[in-house]
Amino acid sequence: MNKNGVTAFKQLVESAPILFYIADRNLKFTYINPFFSKVNNISQQEAIELHISEVIGPEGFNGNLKHYNKVLTGETVKFNTSFVKLDGNLYDYYAIYEPLIEKGEVVGFTGVVIDTTAEHELDRLSKTDLLTQLSNRREYEYDMANILKGDVTFNHGMLILDIDLFKKINDQLGHDMGDNALIKLSKLLENMIEFPSKVFRIGGEEFAIILYDIKGEDELRRRSEYICEKVASSVIIEEKDITVSIGAILFKAGDDRSLILKKADIALYASKKNGRNQVHISNSS
Ligand code: GH3
Ligand code: MG
Ligand code: MG
Repeated sequence: MNKNGVTAFKQLVESAPILFYIADRNLKFTYINPFFSKVNNISQQEAIELHISEVIGPEGFNGNLKHYNKVLTGETVKFNTSFVKLDGNLYDYYAIYEPLIEKGEVVGFTGVVIDTTAEHELDRLSKTDLLTQLSNRREYEYDMANILKGDVTFNHGMLILDIDLFKKINDQLGHDMGDNALIKLSKLLENMIEFPSKVFRIGGEEFAIILYDIKGEDELRRRSEYICEKVASSVIIEEKDITVSIGAILFKAGDDRSLILKKADIALYASKKNGRNQVHISNSS
């Protein structure tokens, strides 16, 4: 490459809002670009000859150590990571390390690090219900689509819960107290459910629960009734008893996504019609 080419490449590296650096095989910096300098609050000159741990802190360094060791064996390394920076906030990164090889020997490596915090936060927000912080309807559809493409050997349960006579709660106690009840109920439901099973807020006062690996209709009924009874017997807000009606269905991979929801809805309607605060199980699809 001619001199103009080198100058142009240097200009790219120096102006990009991406962290670029070069380290030797003792994990000391030989170059950091201006953006790296700004993010880590150290001048380009100061960073030279400093050990990586002295610049990014021991937590970030220890988290990356296995990747440094790998790139120094001559392999390219790409990974997602996150760590708490000096300002106390958690940041997400995507990093690419490429070995620097001279005369067949690894003499160091180049690092490219992109801050993906905003991207991850947007992704999280798009899947989260703002009021309750539960997963939202979009996440429900996404998770369901994945399960339906998955392993056909397991049955799962899907429950729709709808708060009974919630309009009255709003009318009597005010919308803010209604919101408060939704938040408290969300916490209660979440505490009852263990990963990978999951609770979603799929509508105003409507929730869905996906229960993984349910052996059969008896287990689905038992689990659904437990949830229904637990809600009824818990103090969600001091001012008023809150109950839910539940429609539940057993399903497995290959079933029709909209039919699952429709059948669970019909079962929910049966619970409402029959007096609320109870469970109906749909005939499986
Ligand atoms: P049912 O037992 O038949 O379900 O009666 P219900 O009163 O719960 O049913 P309905 O669908 O008539 O009313 C639901 C109410 O939920 C109406 C609406 O004001 C309230 N709601 C929906 N979303 C929110 C919310 O985010 N906050 C509050 N406070 N209320 C909400
Ligand atoms: Mg409703
Ligand atoms: Mg309701």
